[in-house]
Amino acid sequence: MKRAVIDPGSVLGVLGGGQLGALFTLAALRLGYHVAVWDPDPEAPAHRVATHSFPFSFTDQQTRARFADLVSVVTYEWENIPAELCRSLEQQKPVRPSSAVLSVIQDRLEQKGFLSSHGFPIPSFAILTAPDQLAATVRQVGYPALCKTATAGYDGKGQWRISRESDVRGVELALSESARPGIRWVVEAFVPFERELSILVVRGSDGQSCAYPLVENEHDEGILRITKVPAQASSVVAERAATLARQVVDRLEGVGVFCLELFQLPGKELLINEIAPRPHNSGHYTLDACSVSQFEQQVRATCGLPLGEVRLLSPAVMMNLIGSDAAVVMDAVGSRAVLAIPGAQLHLYGKREVRPRRKMGHVTFLGETLDLALDRAQQFRDSLSQ
Ligand code: AMP
Repeated sequence: MKRAVIDPGSVLGVLGGGQLGALFTLAALRLGYHVAVWDPDPEAPAHRVATHSFPFSFTDQQTRARFADLVSVVTYEWENIPAELCRSLEQQKPVRPSSAVLSVIQDRLEQKGFLSSHGFPIPSFAILTAPDQLAATVRQVGYPALCKTATAGYDGKGQWRISRESDVRGVELALSESARPGIRWVVEAFVPFERELSILVVRGSDGQSCAYPLVENEHDEGILRITKVPAQASSVVAERAATLARQVVDRLEGVGVFCLELFQLPGKELLINEIAPRPHNSGHYTLDACSVSQFEQQVRATCGLPLGEVRLLSPAVMMNLIGSDAAVVMDAVGSRAVLAIPGAQLHLYGKREVRPRRKMGHVTFLGETLDLALDRAQQFRDSLSQ
């Protein structure tokens, strides 16, 4: 019999051991749980804090059996883990969000099919199954367009912009190089958005849900750089986003933390870019600026506990430390400089190797007003260029 409520003292299993898994683990430990982390990379950040580490391939059957025996419930920290693994673990232990939810979300085409079939607003898109069909497929949505791999893309990886007809040939070649049997792509209309927004929703196994404040995001080369909270959007837009997010997660019957990434069009219309079935980088501010963090909510939802009451305690700006930006704060002088800024909260993920585009940590700048938090973030930015 699968238990709905998981008592403190139990072992929670998390698939994936990146920073999201590490922050989940810390929240779980605080609530009295133990955590088993399964990530093939022995250097993955969550192994540093795990009670039990499984640094083995996701296809290893022995590990699968040991993990399933040990844990009381399973969650995951990113959507690219094998859905098949979740399905098989689900035979023995609850998986939250379920493998069915994961399957819908981890394939962009499935996800878009789900959203459009329920009438949720998304950018127009077309399915591409062979690189030589690219020109014809782009014509269905119009120029400019974006081509994205249906599976395994993240942080702008596996994405190509096609601004005009003359771009088609180059992208076709790139797609041919990455093609393998059965691969599919989404060709999506490029959205001339006014701003990018996102919103977290947590839903418990009893169907109760709560939404966090709407936040505003800035990306560069497809990777999140900055999150500002609260978003500079009207209360009508914020309300609409919260309703949309709750409806989507209800429709999915999702249990856990979800994030909707949204585009706001000039006419205030909202389009859903994508759904994440887990805590999200744009929700890291909740660690320092909210009554309950997205990671604690993941623990609560995964364990069938009451969800926490969400309150924003302070305006905040979250800045990712990416690649060489992070190197600046990773020595004693640099970390002292950032910690000296009032309201600055430094989080380093303990990754040893600094690589371009790699998320090494983040800083949350708190302030009595968003302008003050922005000034503090700017002060830090200026120090990066010195
Ligand atoms: P994704 O991996 O789909 O979240 O895309 C990463 C980033 O690329 C987004 O946050 C946007 O900045 C940009 N992007 C993705 N899709 C579109 C689109 N259809 N139109 C405009 N920008 C997009």
